[in-house]
Amino acid sequence: MNTTRTALVTGITGQDGRHLAELLHAEGYAVHGLIRGQHNPRREAIARELPYVELIEGDLTDPTSIVRAVESTRPDEVYNLAAISHVGYSFKNPTLTADVTGKGVLNVLEAVRLTGLAETTKVYQASTSEMFGGLDYNRPGSGYNEESLFHPRSPYGVAKLYGHWIAKNYRESYGMFISCGILFNHEGEHRGVEFVTRKITHAVARIKLGLQETLELGDLWPKRDWGYAGDYVRGMWLMLQHGIADDFVLASGETHSIEEFLDLAFAEVGIEDWKPYVVQNPKFMRPAEVDILLGDPSKAERELGWRREVDFHGLVSRMVAHDLAEQAGLNGLEVPNAASVS
Ligand code: GDP
Repeated sequence: MNTTRTALVTGITGQDGRHLAELLHAEGYAVHGLIRGQHNPRREAIARELPYVELIEGDLTDPTSIVRAVESTRPDEVYNLAAISHVGYSFKNPTLTADVTGKGVLNVLEAVRLTGLAETTKVYQASTSEMFGGLDYNRPGSGYNEESLFHPRSPYGVAKLYGHWIAKNYRESYGMFISCGILFNHEGEHRGVEFVTRKITHAVARIKLGLQETLELGDLWPKRDWGYAGDYVRGMWLMLQHGIADDFVLASGETHSIEEFLDLAFAEVGIEDWKPYVVQNPKFMRPAEVDILLGDPSKAERELGWRREVDFHGLVSRMVAHDLAEQAGLNGLEVPNAASVS
């Protein structure tokens, strides 16, 4: 009898898809990844980076393609990571964001039902701290938890909130095993450069190597609860191994401003005063901002035994070291030695 477990991951081309596929493969799963579009430019990279992943074409906005993907793989576990995931982009493309990030969740859940797998297939829904909004009135001092009030501040946050509630509704209505991970910002060497952490570490490496002079950013005062993506995908997996379907916050329990991130990232390459290198550009500011996010992961720690391994400083170091090596390699330069790096 074949006892290999099968997982279907939507959003395989994203940061979390990469980390999760690695974890699932190491756990012995057959991993299938949903990939969008006939000529997806990431297809070749995925085939190289994750050669063990079986790619299936499909699009979250096309219900038929999701039904086919679920039907052909009959997965034990579905991880719905696919989304328009950039907050700034969602303000410019709110309708697409609603279709993919919101209604796309419904298409995944319906596909599991329509293929007769509602009783056996477990589903992970990628919910987000952006659903909270970081406003004074709904912000607990100890950090947001699973019971906190939602007040999303972007089309992305609003679409994710629909996804979160339709997932809970299908759990309650049809008894499906659907767990929602309310994940605070999680970063790392596979993060896209459109997100502020990677944008900073990428630029710091290039500035150190003499490839770039300045870094343009928006507001520097917002605070985020940042963790390492590799730690957070382990939390996703633990949620589906747990006895009951539920909602869990994954967070570091610390909050830091973008200025603090800049301090640490530039210090990694021996630059103590980053102000001459950073230019503020209103283009990167948002119509509505989430001022501060802080999460309380105690339920996940208590019930799932989840712990993050990489702390804030470790995260910044790791990302800067990766980007120095990557940028040096791409440009035929030497990686600066330890003496000149800090
Ligand atoms: P988010 O928390 O999901 O929106 O993750 P981001 O990494 O995109 O943004 C984190 C914070 O950095 C937000 O408060 C942004 O407004 C702020 N920020 C400041 N400058 C920039 C920038 O140039 N790019 C991005 N993406 N965010 C920036």
